[in-house]
This record gives sequence, structure tokens and C-alpha cells, in this order.
Amino acid sequence: NFITFEGTEGVGKSTQLKHAENWLRSHDIDVVVTREPGGTPLAENIRELLLAPRDEQVVDLTELLLIFAARAQHLNTLILPELNAGRWVLCDRFTDATYAYQGGGRGVSRKQIAILENLVQDALRPDHVILLDAPVEVGMARARKRGELDRFERETVAFFERIRSTYRERAVCWPERYHVLDAAQSIEAVTESLSRTLQSILDV
Ligand code: C5P
Repeated sequence: NFITFEGTEGVGKSTQLKHAENWLRSHDIDVVVTREPGGTPLAENIRELLLAPRDEQVVDLTELLLIFAARAQHLNTLILPELNAGRWVLCDRFTDATYAYQGGGRGVSRKQIAILENLVQDALRPDHVILLDAPVEVGMARARKRGELDRFERETVAFFERIRSTYRERAVCWPERYHVLDAAQSIEAVTESLSRTLQSILDV
């Protein structure tokens, strides 16, 4: 099983990913946890390149190609070998984030993303996408508390609104694959719905 975790900033993705890892381990499932962009030394280098502030304007297509370059490395050297060995892979963000951030956020066409998705992944798609969904202001308030507001300062609120809408639209298109959790609830309530979702995945 290949399960990815998605959502805008401050929705509690890391906390819930940790919970999923613990929950699955306690059910005797062999899990590997990884993240995008990143997951291998080279892909982590590309992540640093992507996140570094710079004076030069980054062309949208350059950002897109770097993300898929990192993904090709991550997929072939880590994700696929682990899945083939029978382990469950939990990934913090994957291609749905590319559709949301580069597509919805930056305005890159869906068609361009789909071309690279097919090239890099062939037929591989996540089996399940856990979408932690909350209004942008909720995430912002949490980021403010943690002193991580800089993530928001680089972009407008409208940018994050577009990302959230793209995720929600995708969830409507693939209801069997997407599990939308209301991340505006308390951490405990989200954790509980995530456990129920994982149980439903285990049951099939
Ligand atoms: O998942 P995490 O919040 O740690 O992501 C790190 C940063 O990378 C985020 O601020 C997000 O905005 C950015 N990102 C991006 N495009 C992606 C994936 C992540 O801009 N496809």
C-alpha cells in the first residue's frame, strides 16, 4: 500500500503521519515513512534548492522539473523497492501536491503536470491519499503559534486558497482514493478519524 498525506500549511500533516505510522506498526504492519520533495540524499538536495530563498525569479517550469527530478530518484530508489518488498510506504506529499501547489497555486497547466506524471511514474499512483483539510486561516493561526509564519509571508492567502480548492476538487474526482479529514477539529478528533480511515484500508 502506498499512502500519501496532503494538505496546506499548518493542517497537522506531520502529527497525523506520525500517528498513522504508530497505528500501523501497532497492527503489525511493516511501514516506511518518507517525504517529498526529498526522501533520498539527492532528492533532499533538490528540496533544499527548491526551498532556498533567492533573488533570481524561479520559472514555474523549472520548479516543476526539479520536483519531478527529485520524484524520479525517490520513486526508483526508495518507494518502488520498498513497495516491491511488501512494505507499506507513507509519504508526506506526492504528486497531488504538485497539482495543488504548482498547478492550482502557480498556475502551471494540468496537462503539463500530467505529461511528467506519466513519464516519471508510468501507471503508479498512490493507493490512498489522506487529505487534511482546513480553512487557510486555521493553518495560518497554527503556523503563527509555532513561529513558522514565514511560509505564509512568501505567498498570498489567495495562493493557499487555490491550493486548498485544487485538493478538494481532486478529492471529488477520485472519491475512492481520497480520504478527506476535517483538520479544523482538535488533534484528538483528527487522530480518531485517521484511525478509522486506516482501519477501513486494512479491512479491504
Ligand atoms: O510538506 P511541507 O509543508 O514540509 O513542505 C515544505 C514546503 O514545500 C511547503 O512550504 C510547500 O509550500 C512547499 N512545496 C511546494 N510544492 C510542492 C511540495 C511542497 O511548493 N509540490
